[in-house]
Amino acid sequence: MRHLFFVLCFLTVVACENSHSQTNPKPAAPAAKSALSGDLHRQLYDKYNLYRETSIKDRRFKHADIVPLVQKLKAPFRTQKAGKSMEGRDIYQVQIGNGPVQVLLWSQMHGDEASATMAIMDIFNFMTRDDQFNPLRERLMKELTLTFIPLLNPDGAERFKRRNAIDIDLNRDAARLQTPEAQLLKRVRDELKADWGFNLHDQNRYYSAGKGKTATFSFLAPAYNYAKEVNAVRGNAMHLIGVMNNILQEYIPGQVGRYSDSFEPRAFGDNIQKWGTSTILIECGGLAEDPDKQEIRRLHFAMLVAALDAIATQTYKSVGMDVYESIPFNGSNEFFDLLVREVEIDFKGEYYTVDIGFRKDEISYNGNRDYYYRAQIADIGDLSIFHAYESVDALGMQAFPGKTYATTLSSASQLASLDPIKLLQEGYTDVFVTGLSSKARFATLPFRLIEAGKGKENNNVRMSGNPSLYIQKDGETRYVVVNGAAYDLERDRDKILKLVNKL
Ligand SMILES: [Zn+2]
Repeated sequence: MRHLFFVLCFLTVVACENSHSQTNPKPAAPAAKSALSGDLHRQLYDKYNLYRETSIKDRRFKHADIVPLVQKLKAPFRTQKAGKSMEGRDIYQVQIGNGPVQVLLWSQMHGDEASATMAIMDIFNFMTRDDQFNPLRERLMKELTLTFIPLLNPDGAERFKRRNAIDIDLNRDAARLQTPEAQLLKRVRDELKADWGFNLHDQNRYYSAGKGKTATFSFLAPAYNYAKEVNAVRGNAMHLIGVMNNILQEYIPGQVGRYSDSFEPRAFGDNIQKWGTSTILIECGGLAEDPDKQEIRRLHFAMLVAALDAIATQTYKSVGMDVYESIPFNGSNEFFDLLVREVEIDFKGEYYTVDIGFRKDEISYNGNRDYYYRAQIADIGDLSIFHAYESVDALGMQAFPGKTYATTLSSASQLASLDPIKLLQEGYTDVFVTGLSSKARFATLPFRLIEAGKGKENNNVRMSGNPSLYIQKDGETRYVVVNGAAYDLERDRDKILKLVNKL
């Protein structure tokens, strides 16, 4: 069957060359064998909750949460320990299917990039069920051998950080192979002689996909040499990315980006492509109102299963190379969490019009299981070409550093009795409270609570600062900004009272 595969690769190259020179892509390859395949991704998306692994609720799970989910898998799954991390955590390899086409999927080689691991746990559940998707399952298992390595960097996940236990970036260890995690990945790829490789990551939420849209998913068929040539192996990856792009456009139009294909000789994607595996990099970015990436997880699930089916049915060949090439390149640093636009700030009695761009860092606590946000000004000045998850149009308004309330409160709950709306109208954003945690200090709240005795916040509007602001029009406070979030004192009145009453 490997011989057949190479013949197919050759045919694909011919198709690629054609699609470069024609405006219309090649007509579709033979239709898939099941009625399911028409709108398969939509059916998977709609039925997703039947398969969602409910024990994994957000991105901050750990090795100990994943191990029982892997260990409980029964036939037709084949599960084995593939090796250990530097700190001795078991890394598992999970196989299903007996088909001639070898597909390898590995997730979370960067410990804080968890979206795909969640989707893989959902795929495991999906494959164990007995329902209307049985023809699809049978096809996948007959045509493909699927090998999953979920959570390749468990030591990094433990700390919710990118690198492994000795701070090596596993994705720069593909050539030198110093870490056991990288050695394991290379060995499994070589043993399988994988035909396909899915290199599953997350990117930061500030990438854009052109035209002011966030890059919720980004793809790359990595180059295998500095000349960025396209052979059959890489060409197949481009076709399959076209399939996945077409799926995503139905749910998140315009929110798909593509990485530039500069060759990185130390990275796994580039090397695995070079070693003869059609390799696809998938990066999950940001999506509005999905901070824990649960909607992204759902999309990932539907897209991955549909992509595997496109491999099984070979329908990926019918999506022309022009689709891959039409995906806009990722723009970096073009997005903010909050942009306060065209606001006037004072310097020695003169007003200057600026845009203020805030971004938020995740600060871990509770053993890295939880986090709060700490905002900072990431840019200031003319930011008119940039975009944000939340924007405040402050044209003709003035921003002032928030004032500190004169009385120290004995508990945060006292705030509710102080008429919070009136306080904010008067510009009081910062409040001293005795006995506060850092978490409370950066709570999602239109007030900054400061532990008494720890000094006043610096509310100057300067780079890297995190000022509380009140923003006025004609002397009336219209907005406050606290910890990188804006509150409209008219529109958000109920929300503000609710937040304060919860304290
Ligand atoms: Zn990554």
